[in-house]
Amino acid sequence: MFKSLREKLKNAVSKITKQVEETPEEIVEKSVEEEKKPSEEPVKEKKKISKVIKEKITTKRISDKKFDDIFWDLEIALLENNVSVEVIDKIKSDLKEKIVDKPIERKKVGNIILDSLKETIDDLFIENIDILKKIESKKPFVILFVGINGSGKTTTIAKIANLLKEKNMTSVMVAADTWRAAAIQQLEEHGKKLGVKVIKHDYGADPAAVAFDGIKHAESKNLDVVLIDTAGRMHSNVNLQEEMKKIVRVANPDMKIFVGESITGNDAVNQAQKFDDSIDIDGIILTKFDVDDKGGAPLSISYVTKKPILFIGKGQNYSDLKIFDKKDVLDNLGI
Ligand code: GDP
Repeated sequence: MFKSLREKLKNAVSKITKQVEETPEEIVEKSVEEEKKPSEEPVKEKKKISKVIKEKITTKRISDKKFDDIFWDLEIALLENNVSVEVIDKIKSDLKEKIVDKPIERKKVGNIILDSLKETIDDLFIENIDILKKIESKKPFVILFVGINGSGKTTTIAKIANLLKEKNMTSVMVAADTWRAAAIQQLEEHGKKLGVKVIKHDYGADPAAVAFDGIKHAESKNLDVVLIDTAGRMHSNVNLQEEMKKIVRVANPDMKIFVGESITGNDAVNQAQKFDDSIDIDGIILTKFDVDDKGGAPLSISYVTKKPILFIGKGQNYSDLKIFDKKDVLDNLGI
């Protein structure tokens, strides 16, 4: 995962390090507090003994203008891997603050850049929600899944139904994607495999009515969770967006989750923003993490929307769903 970004970041960091090394050296005096070793302490003397000494070190100083030149490679690496402009700006300003006009010890340049990147990336994510705990707070807990066609919504709903089953929670899946007969059929197949009931109406029916029936079913059977699949509407289609708002009004979900494909990078970020504008999403699931070479969407989507990434999809099997941990991103970037 993220092979392309990981390699480009590595190359950019080593190029920056080289560029910094080529800037003229400065010799500065650094005050160092020298502590005496305990063995040298007189027995009666309890106080810590230290003295300030001056040490000469070789440093580099990067000007504002030079910084723009040396950041260029990193900027290109990030842009090529679909990292959003907002996130690139943040990485740039954080790094700038750490290195511009500061004496940097020559040997530490590479580490300073990597540490700064790590800190900035670590900061990009909104803290995850413990969704299973949240589900226990209400019965039935209603979750609406939105996103464009092919993003992996139906598969993700089935993965969540499977996860709930593993946790001894009951659920019903609702085929409120009435636009495609195939979508209803696909959910039914998952239902059969998982032994989870699917509520459906005919192709072309009012999705809000199907959602309503799904909730009534869960109430009558005392089920824990209602998982509502919706039609893969384009975020730019006004009619479908209006229809989705109607589903939200009728179903009044406890959570609205945007499902997007990690591999689509900035497109997924833009879609999430649009869906958030229309129905105020609560969290994000990024699918196809397993085939994402670039990592732009995971790096950007939480920062741009200010919503947490809840899960990542890592394959086509039911068990290929993982609670999101930002360590997954950092580890895959090798920083
Ligand atoms: P929907 O139109 O949004 O409901 O999308 P589907 O659930 O039908 O998924 C579209 C395709 O993506 C299917 O072939 C899924 O098997 C595949 N898919 C879904 N999630 C993942 C994932 O995490 N990794 C991979 N590699 N494929 C996935």
